[in-house]
Amino acid sequence: MTTRIFAANWKMHLGPEGARQFMATFLQHYRSLPGREVWFFPSAVALETLANLVRDRPEIRVGAQHVHWEPSGAYTGETSIPMIREAGAAAALVGHSERRHVFGETDEDTARQVRAVLEHGLIPMLCVGETIEQREHGATLEVVVRQLGALAGLDPAQLARVTIAYEPVWAIGTGRTATSRDAAEVHGHIRRWLGQQGAPAETIPVLYGGSVKPTNLRELVTTRDIDGVLVGGASLDPVQWAAMTATAD
Ligand code: PEP
Repeated sequence: MTTRIFAANWKMHLGPEGARQFMATFLQHYRSLPGREVWFFPSAVALETLANLVRDRPEIRVGAQHVHWEPSGAYTGETSIPMIREAGAAAALVGHSERRHVFGETDEDTARQVRAVLEHGLIPMLCVGETIEQREHGATLEVVVRQLGALAGLDPAQLARVTIAYEPVWAIGTGRTATSRDAAEVHGHIRRWLGQQGAPAETIPVLYGGSVKPTNLRELVTTRDIDGVLVGGASLDPVQWAAMTATAD
């Protein structure tokens, strides 16, 4: 893996004006560095604003937090992939744990979303991860492999365009982080699984997410098989996030 990805999931924070103010401060402190990309997943209403602000910076990408798999139709409240692409999105999160556990998205939903995102030429970032009960029952790898099933049946060229984020549910927004050793074990397993599907496993980015902050970032991003991070809370401070994107330079 040669490119490190620092991805910010803003969840339900920052509308267009908030995104504009964030980016003005962020860009004052941010350094573009070779071999790394910075991705932002803002709210749907801030997507276009943000995409326009970073249009001339190819190493900064913008994506949606959630999409519907149908291109249009009677789906009140949903946003389609052609819509987010028109707004400037290059990627979409799929299967974030809050979508699975708060909004009841199923593995079938994530599979449909992954396929639709690929069909429209965007990058799906598939999120996988176990709950604390599943970890305590020794079911972590089984759960992760089941969720990776959203990628089953994709051909190697499609798999090569996928990004994965391993985010243990118990670590998201809780202040608890998986140790780099625990994360590396799951990341290695994900990579082996990808290889078994005929994917170019070494080049598919596998990010870690779950209470990543300045104090644990360096250890995580310098761990084998961890190609970057997906960060919620700690990405909302533009000065701190700019510094985080330069960690382990
Ligand atoms: C996330 O939203 O994907 C996430 C990892 O959140 P946090 O960094 O706040 O745990």
